[in-house]
Amino acid sequence: MDQLDQHTRDERRATAEGLLPDLEDAGVVGVALPWVDTSGITRVKTVPLAKLPSAAAWGVGMSPVFDGFLLDDSIVAGRFAGSAIGDLRLHPDLSRLTLLAGQPGWAWAPVDRYTQAGTPHVQCSRSLLRRLVAELADDGLTVRGAFEIEWVVADPDGLPEDPDAFVPALSGPAYGMTRLAEVSDYARDLLEALAAEGVRVDQFHPEYAGGQLEVSVGPEDPVGAADTALLVRNTITAVSAQHGLRVSFSPKVTADGVGNGGHVHLSLWRDGENLMSGGDGTFGLTAEGEAFTAGLLGHLPGLLAVGAPSVASYLRLVPSHWAGAFAAWGLENREAAVRFVTGPDGNRQSSANVEVKSFDLAANPYLLMAACLAAGRAGLRAGGTLPDPIGVDPASLSEEGRREAGIHPLPATLEEAVRAFEADTALAEAFGEELHATVVDVRRGEIALFENTSPEGVCRATRWKH
Ligand code: GLU
Ligand code: MG
Repeated sequence: MDQLDQHTRDERRATAEGLLPDLEDAGVVGVALPWVDTSGITRVKTVPLAKLPSAAAWGVGMSPVFDGFLLDDSIVAGRFAGSAIGDLRLHPDLSRLTLLAGQPGWAWAPVDRYTQAGTPHVQCSRSLLRRLVAELADDGLTVRGAFEIEWVVADPDGLPEDPDAFVPALSGPAYGMTRLAEVSDYARDLLEALAAEGVRVDQFHPEYAGGQLEVSVGPEDPVGAADTALLVRNTITAVSAQHGLRVSFSPKVTADGVGNGGHVHLSLWRDGENLMSGGDGTFGLTAEGEAFTAGLLGHLPGLLAVGAPSVASYLRLVPSHWAGAFAAWGLENREAAVRFVTGPDGNRQSSANVEVKSFDLAANPYLLMAACLAAGRAGLRAGGTLPDPIGVDPASLSEEGRREAGIHPLPATLEEAVRAFEADTALAEAFGEELHATVVDVRRGEIALFENTSPEGVCRATRWKH
């Protein structure tokens, strides 16, 4: 699929040329071409505006070595990643070209990574996601999804003796109106920037942890949702810098307390009908909606190697912290990994969805969305069914009570998640040999990096990276 032939290249160049006058009028000087590596770090190259047509046709060179990068910029010697040899081409998706409202003079377009021969790079997460979306479409299915973004705002100077320490820039309480008053100008600028970028924000609110805030956005097609996750984070970082604030999206900013989640909402659709609603199953699930959800729940241990990809992720993923540490599902249960959301009566057909809570923002959103589609599809192929829903915090049950209710604890360490991922044939098949191996190799690289590091040390080393 997706061979870049001369005709496609010419079309892309013409599209870019057509965009130039408006971009010039808008004062755009440079175009950022971001993509996300296996560790979940967004990497970027940029071109001056005049080079956009050539970048659209021929891409921009970038080494494949970044597939093997860790969060500290060291490089893993992976089975299929980490070599300094070769080159890839970054091809901007012009349909998503956006003026960065928080970075005047800059436009932004997420990229697909291609080989020099014009075929998708086998380790390109955005290309993988596009392929899985197309495969589901062949079966008449579409998915709509969204990422919730939680972050903390910090004093940029940290502490006098430790500039990298986390000092919350806000003191108001969780969900507090006083905290909103503290960020009034900042939040207004953020909402204004996101609106100017065409992001459909659903909600903004002060979250639970010290200095924590959250933005949620409306559902989109899976690639659009992952692009939006990138754009929203980028915009938050830029607007925060304009207000003299430092931000962290890290799963666990400090070893104590509640972390930053990156919950993923998903619904499955056929012929314009939401399959999470209107059926005969529990809470109105259709058989296909249930099978897709059963796939997500059943593959969660392996999915965590993609969706909770950092050593720090497992400091966050603990019981009774709203992070979804148990493989269970339930109606509006914020302690179940899979929270079923019907939406209000009268609006269920458009709003019913499942929220996977166990994921965080260290995840590469393209890779994670792709893994979710693969897990859901495996559930559909197996005709999966769900166990009984859980209506309590699983941590409030005894171990035996949990066993009787069919509730399993999820992996408690990154190594456990990696083992589950290695054994997950549905994810292995969807990712392909190279990318599957690279996820394993990069995760093991991070595990080795933090082998002798205390939880506080892990938080510190991860805090300002994502
Ligand atoms: N901050 C929590 C987490 O780590 C989530 C809070 C919520 O339920 O939104 O996922
Ligand atoms: Mg939240």
